[in-house]
Amino acid sequence: MNKPASEMDFYRTADDNPRRDYCAITWHIVGTTDVNTEPNGAPSRNWEFGRVYINQHTFKTPLCGNASRRAPIIAHEMGHVMGLAHAGGTTLMARTISSPTSPATAPTQDDRNGINALY
Ligand SMILES: [Zn+2]
Repeated sequence: MNKPASEMDFYRTADDNPRRDYCAITWHIVGTTDVNTEPNGAPSRNWEFGRVYINQHTFKTPLCGNASRRAPIIAHEMGHVMGLAHAGGTTLMARTISSPTSPATAPTQDDRNGINALY
């Protein structure tokens, strides 16, 4: 990928999409197509902008932890918009970031290395 910048928009999920198994999700948009590579979370090719959906059905529920978990979850989605895939361990990009017991609160060296590799 060769993407010098990324725009990101944030939305609440629509009321008619009551999936209750995630806290937030990122789409990487080209035209009107999502080029995300779920479950990896990274785009499959250059994208025009990122669209983050905050799940209004779960974001303030125990599924997504207490209020202290919300900023790390948003930071995780911003990492996706910037092109980062899921990572392991206790990184901000760990798939388990939304776990109420996740210790990730800020980008780790691994997260920063990913951004430096992309940009
Ligand atoms: Zn993710």
